[in-house]
Amino acid sequence: MSVFEMPEFDRHEEVVFHQDPGTNLRAIVAIHSTALGPAAGGCRMWSYGSCNEALTDVLRLARGMSYKNAMAGLAFGGGKAVIIADPKRPKTPELFEAFGRFVDSLGGRYITAEDLGTTTADMESVARRTRYVSGLARHAGDVGGDPGPKTALGVYLGLKAAAKFRLGRADLQDVSVAVQGIGGVGYRLAQYLAAEGARLYVADVRAAATERAADEFGAIPVAIEKILTQEAEIFAPCALGAILNAQSIPRLKAKVIAGAANNQLALDRDGAALHAAGVLYAPDYVINAGGIINVFHEYYGASSESQVSAAIALIPARLADIFERSRRENRPTNQVADELARARIEVAQRRLVA
Ligand code: NAD
Repeated sequence: MSVFEMPEFDRHEEVVFHQDPGTNLRAIVAIHSTALGPAAGGCRMWSYGSCNEALTDVLRLARGMSYKNAMAGLAFGGGKAVIIADPKRPKTPELFEAFGRFVDSLGGRYITAEDLGTTTADMESVARRTRYVSGLARHAGDVGGDPGPKTALGVYLGLKAAAKFRLGRADLQDVSVAVQGIGGVGYRLAQYLAAEGARLYVADVRAAATERAADEFGAIPVAIEKILTQEAEIFAPCALGAILNAQSIPRLKAKVIAGAANNQLALDRDGAALHAAGVLYAPDYVINAGGIINVFHEYYGASSESQVSAAIALIPARLADIFERSRRENRPTNQVADELARARIEVAQRRLVA
């Protein structure tokens, strides 16, 4: 099947394959749209079973970045890169330098950053060969660096907006929240929630992570297979994608879903199932945009930490607008968000061709 016939192909502007024999690099960059600006999105390293699997992933993720960047109000289009390799095997700076040369060859139409399987340190290697990279370790502590903490801030603020809308709660005192995944984002989210007096249930495949949350926040550890059906008002997925599906949705106890994980819905129609069940779903790419907002400000330089936080503080109002429209039009929140994102991209596209 050609790329053009794949179900994930959504009129992507460009899909570029690259291999570097010296380092064994095999990578694909998909640029979904540059209507709003250069296509930005992280570089994922994964041991894909086949090239087709990698292509499917990069097409889907690139479109997701177009929607995320559009909804975050950024002058960024959407793109993504995948490197086909096992991230658990030793990584060489040379491989990331080769990837940097590949990104550079695209002339700034694609801007890369860290993602699953890559780190801010890897991006330093990329930066030796291209300036079209963000999320660099050298900026940590200032604007930029690891986007995780800023993602957590946005999720926390978005979760509060969802709690207010669905539960009528202005604060989170004694509100129960089940957090799936206590990693970079989940840990900081739990920290914010605990500081507001939320009752936390936590699950992670790493026992040390849940034990730490128990010690520091008084969180209650839950088995990984139970967290999704935990009796709690809010479920915050911060680990895996596709966890909201035909099997899990009927078993959910939460009234609100608000978390950082990408691609939480297995299928679009799962958003409709949540809506029908009266569960308020905060669309993932709207609530988890804090990291890309940070990347944007780092990339364009000169912004202060407070400017980044002010931009992230707009996430709750964006969500409230989506929730309102969803209620008014009796439509799932994911449908409303997708439509708003597409409309923003189309307006920009029309301006470009006019
Ligand atoms: P992370 O790798 O630091 O944390 C993920 C955590 O989930 C780890 O502690 C891992 O052990 C745990 N986990 C894995 N499988 C699990 C399972 N089956 N049940 C429970 N826990 C499990 O990743 P992160 O940076 O914290 O990101 C979390 C999620 O948010 C990911 O889906 C990521 O794609 C998404 N996201 C992250 C950012 C960011 O800035 N880091 C931005 C947007 C979206």
